[in-house]
Amino acid sequence: MTCSGNPAERADELRAQIEHHNVRYHQLDDPEVGDADYDALVRELAVIEETHPDLVTAASPTQKVGAAPSTLFAPVEHRTRMMSLDNVTSLEELLAWGKRMERFISGDVDFVAELKIDGVAISLLYEHGTLVRAATRGDGGVGEDVTANVATVSVVPERLALDPPPPSLEVRGEVYMPTSAFEELNKRQAAEEGRLFANPRNAAAGSLRQKDARITAGRRLGFWVYQIGHVESGPAFTRHAGTLEYLGAAGFPVNPEVRVMGTLDDVHAFCRHWQQHRHDLDYEIDGVVVKVDDLAQRSELGATSKAPRWAIAYKFPPEERTTLLKDIEVSIGPSGRATPFAVLEPVFVGGSTVGVATLHNEDQVRLKDVRVGDTVIVRKAGDVIPEVVGPMLSVRPEGLPEWHFPPTCPSCSSPLVRLEGASDTYCVNVDCPARVARRIEHFAARFAMDIEGFGEKSVLLFISRGLLRDAADIYTMDLEEVRAIERYGDTSVANLARAIESSKQRPLANLLAALAIPHLGGTGSQVLARAFGHLDRIMAAPVEELAAAEGIGPTIAASVRAFFDDQRNQDLVARLREAGVNFNGPAAPDQPQVLAGLAIVVTGTLERWSREAAEEAVKARGGKSPGSVSKKTTAVVAGDAPGAAKITKAAALGVRVIDEATFEQLLETGELPPRPAVASEPAGPE
Ligand code: NAD
Repeated sequence: MTCSGNPAERADELRAQIEHHNVRYHQLDDPEVGDADYDALVRELAVIEETHPDLVTAASPTQKVGAAPSTLFAPVEHRTRMMSLDNVTSLEELLAWGKRMERFISGDVDFVAELKIDGVAISLLYEHGTLVRAATRGDGGVGEDVTANVATVSVVPERLALDPPPPSLEVRGEVYMPTSAFEELNKRQAAEEGRLFANPRNAAAGSLRQKDARITAGRRLGFWVYQIGHVESGPAFTRHAGTLEYLGAAGFPVNPEVRVMGTLDDVHAFCRHWQQHRHDLDYEIDGVVVKVDDLAQRSELGATSKAPRWAIAYKFPPEERTTLLKDIEVSIGPSGRATPFAVLEPVFVGGSTVGVATLHNEDQVRLKDVRVGDTVIVRKAGDVIPEVVGPMLSVRPEGLPEWHFPPTCPSCSSPLVRLEGASDTYCVNVDCPARVARRIEHFAARFAMDIEGFGEKSVLLFISRGLLRDAADIYTMDLEEVRAIERYGDTSVANLARAIESSKQRPLANLLAALAIPHLGGTGSQVLARAFGHLDRIMAAPVEELAAAEGIGPTIAASVRAFFDDQRNQDLVARLREAGVNFNGPAAPDQPQVLAGLAIVVTGTLERWSREAAEEAVKARGGKSPGSVSKKTTAVVAGDAPGAAKITKAAALGVRVIDEATFEQLLETGELPPRPAVASEPAGPE
């Protein structure tokens, strides 16, 4: 923290920074920092002001709403101020808010809990039932006239469905962009080389605040109403729940997830539920808004200069943070595929600390235009693998060079090659140490020869000690030398020996899968094992005979043939034979039917499974693996570059999206592990 020692000076510094970010966020729709980083500045200022009340000024951002309206639109003075919300992040803080409130009111309190929609606050004025004006919140007192833009939002009623309508009714709500619309928009923007939006809120704000309302019309925006600003000669309401009913009858969309509750413990359970299920919705929420239901009690409570005392936002932990992109490196997979990944200044996001995130391939890096030295937005939502959303262009230091795929392999310096029409780049050296390490890991993996003790770290250690050069070395490595390595005791060496020995009896299909023959996945391995019954017969089969096996196309057949034609692979097989590894079919024994009745959809590129093999593995265990997501889907397995439509649909339907490791666990046990716990405290370092 760049903390100056003097609280008054530091408060001034913070105010200047916060004002600057307010303008970028509220006026320009182009924030320079993530919300969590902004919130940290506000929190620090609030702490200084609390401990030094003499430093509080009316102009402090802690006392004000939003930012002054921009001059792009005509100003609109709000008849009643549009306020912000104070917020809490834990049950303790929520209860403390309840306690503070009790001092101001009498009687029991009922609470209304609503989803906190992550969009743009809007005020809609209807005169004699017709929409006459729409305005943004601005600084709470004066907003911007965006009537022409809002008129293009199809779910905002042009006329009220009330007969007769009140002479004047002003309502408030949130304009938002559904997640699916956001994804479509960004795809379109990418195709037209336009600006990509960082998130749906940003896209909604950018779409709404357009000088040309035709642009707004081309964007799919939604709206949820949540409050009446004022009503003339309308019905008298006593409870918030009653006003929502009235607004629904008037034709406004009212969010269905509204609950009235008697205790803050129940409210907290509602908050926790939505924290876990936020991605089940086709729109983003960043918390829950808790409101006092009784309107008379609300009047007793009143408001501060910034927010009502009768409501509080229970904020979820952030899923997006900004951080420094320290480097872009390339990792080499068992087949030699070179995958670029971002090395990040570690950042706590979406419930865990993220230090690296995949960048998929060369085209993705170019499309996102991320450069080493950029401040980037990192997103981690639910179980999905962390990703770099894009750079914060407004704070890009001058002169950052574009990133180019390195011409040579970081491990062996051989050329990296990208074939025409392909999206992936490969290291062509079969002896590349990184490839060798990944091949050995692959050979020993659970779905292959299943040899415990040969994970990434151990394999690299054994290679560095000269104990391993290829997979066949596993069967001849000197275990006495392993015992000499500090972290290996008698027990672990005995375990290794046992694991190596029992792997010799694995079915032929596992051995074929272990060899990492390009294009041959788990299913193909099973087919070949069953059809040929012995490794020697597969090795001897001409390509046509291989291709004749059910499900083995010409590409796989040619690849298998080429693999066994290579002298080095023949040598490897000879050494495996010598070690006593089983070459005999028939196929792998029937799998336990742990997935009976379940439907698992696979999307994107997995590291250890081809799509077909993953689907076959599901079927072999009694499950179904349909090509699209529906209500009946149990889980979606997402690899690299998953299908956006599948992920969005899964989110909308509340279907779990899992990674490769969780998928392998599911194959084994038939059960999905519990969703990762999301702490209710503002967990982790800020
Ligand atoms: P807020 O967004 O946290 O809460 C107030 C708003 O919640 C209301 O104005 C309303 O529009 C909205 N809301 C959504 N659902 C609602 C519901 N059901 N009932 C009532 N209101 C509902 O507060 P704010 O003052 O608008 O803005 C502060 C937020 O903006 C913070 O999250 C902050 O991080 C972010 N911000 C970020 C930057 C940046 O640079 N990244 C700058 C300024 C503000």
